[in-house]
Order: sequence, then structure tokens, then C-alpha cells
Amino acid sequence: MDNSRRDFFQKSTIAAAGMISLTSGVSKAEPQDPDHMALGPHEMVKGLTLLSIRQKDGEETLGVKTPEGILDVRAASKALKKSAPLTLDDLLQGGKAAELNILIAGTRGKGTRFLVDESQITYGRLFQKPGKIVCVGLNYRNHAKEIGMPFPRVPPLFNKYNNALAAHRCNIPVPPRDISYKLDYETELLVVMGKTARNLSEADALNYVAGYCTGHDFSARDLQLELPNGQWMIGKTLDNFAPIGPYFVSADLVGNPNELKLETRVNGELRQSSNTSDFIFNTQQMISYISKHFPLQPGDIIFTGTPEGVILGKPKDKQVWLKAGDHIESTIEKLGTLQFSLALLNQGDSAL
Ligand code: MG
Repeated sequence: MDNSRRDFFQKSTIAAAGMISLTSGVSKAEPQDPDHMALGPHEMVKGLTLLSIRQKDGEETLGVKTPEGILDVRAASKALKKSAPLTLDDLLQGGKAAELNILIAGTRGKGTRFLVDESQITYGRLFQKPGKIVCVGLNYRNHAKEIGMPFPRVPPLFNKYNNALAAHRCNIPVPPRDISYKLDYETELLVVMGKTARNLSEADALNYVAGYCTGHDFSARDLQLELPNGQWMIGKTLDNFAPIGPYFVSADLVGNPNELKLETRVNGELRQSSNTSDFIFNTQQMISYISKHFPLQPGDIIFTGTPEGVILGKPKDKQVWLKAGDHIESTIEKLGTLQFSLALLNQGDSAL
């Protein structure tokens, strides 16, 4: 038997043994837990900056940012008759980076046929149906200090739901005043998972990250903090309370996530200016901690907390809450500037 055939048989035997132990439920070796390894066709996204295009028919589909313009993945896939992931959820959850790379390569030499000018697009939601939206609270030293809270012993976790997901340049509908009026901004680094992560060590955690985005944990402080027992979840997940974008940037293009500048502007005025180096729990520690309690799956997203400068951190007599008409910009180094506005919407209007 030649070496390549021997290698093949050895690998097949190991893989088969792994499957048997998995299906019989007797696998005990934690570091070799099959969930801990990349299985199947999963390939991590590399070297790509992606966005979402809201098409004229209402679909929100994938775009690839190139020096020449935005590659419309849906248009290219249809014209070239090549299957490709049409959304970021599909790309990440389905592990379809190879398929996307083949499509991109197939468009080379075909001029500007599938390219659109970024200034001409309407942005769609980058994420529409992630399996989980996990949020970490109280994760910057200077933010904990400004609101008079001790540093937490472990990352405090809460969640948003998919109704909160919103696009770059969206409008956030202002709730009726009897529901909430203490509206506040929270610019946050968003971590996007690329592989199933369970029981990860801190040393291994960043290998499971697909990329990063600029995100916003928009907050209703009266719901979050002033209802009996503190309704954190309700105060964080009203419609469009999680705008994300404009880009998803693959992890290899970002490098160290624990050293990125963040800024927030309200109507042009600088309100937050910090750096992820002020994290209490860095990116690896957050992922490792979460993965020890429940698995993170490809396409799951993590909001990593906000730095100081929020309205909540000001003295009570200086707290001027956000209102309809306000325009907010969240900027994170290497990830771009997310913009959105607050709007009074008539009943039945679409928030998107
Ligand atoms: Mg937050």
C-alpha cells in the first residue's frame, strides 16, 4: 500500500471511530469532543468585507466589497448559474466560504457586470436569523466606574431577539412614552462566530471567530433598570434595538479585537471615545466563559459591552434622553461607521 493510501485509510479509521463514539454517546475526552473540531465542509471566511443589499424586491442579500465596487452576489449567482450563499447567515451557518470564493473568482474578468456603486445601494440587515444574540453587560472599566458599579466577577450575560436586528441607516421607532422614553446609545464591538464553540479555552477562542462588526446595543433605561427586578432583556430588545453594520469584516483583516478604537456621535457631537483595551473581560475570555455554559454556533453574535460616555452615566440632572429626530453614529476602527436615526412612526409603517 502506498503512503497516500495508507494515510487515507488511517484517517478514515480515525474518523469512523470518532463517529461511532459520537453516535453511541460514550465520547468522554473533552479536548477531542467532535463538537470542538471543525467538521464537514465548514470553511472560515477570510480576506473579505461583506455587506447586505436591500434589493428592490425587498430581499436582503449579500454583497462583497471590492476596490471596484460592491459585488452583488445574488445577481452574479443567477447569471453565472453557480450556487452561492445569498445571506451572511447562510454563509456562516452553512460554512459556505468556499462556495462564495468560487463565485467571486468566477466574476473576475467580466468587467463591471455584477458590480454596483456602494453609494447607490440601500443597506439591508447583515443578520436576519442568527441562532443566538448574546450580550455582555458592564464590560468596560471606565463605564463601570461612571455608573458606580463594581467590576463584575464573571461576564454578566443577557440577550436580544431577532426582532431587534436592524440595518445600517435604519430608523429606530421611538416607543410610546408610556412604554419607554429613557433612550440611550451603546456602541459595541460585535463578535461573529465561525465554528461551533463548546468548552473553549481562552487560548483557542479567537480561532472560532469568523469576523467582527460595528454594533449598537440600543437601550431603554427605564425598562432595563426601573421596572421591578430590572427587566434587562425587555429594555434591550424592542424593534430595531440592534442595528449592525455597515460591514462584516473577516477576523484575519481585523487582527487583535482587544485594541480597537470606538466612538459615538449624537447629532455630530462626540459622546463616547474609548478603546476595547478598556475591556474588563477581553474577547477570548468572553467567548471561553459563554462556551462553558452553552455552545456557540456559526453565525451566533456577541455584543461585547459599551464604554463610558452613555447618558446613564451622567448626573441625573444632566441626563437628556434621545428623542425622535436624533442621528447616531457608531464608529469602530477597521469596521466602519454605523449610522441610524430615531423616528416617530405611524402605526403600520415599516421600521426598515
Ligand atoms: Mg450593552
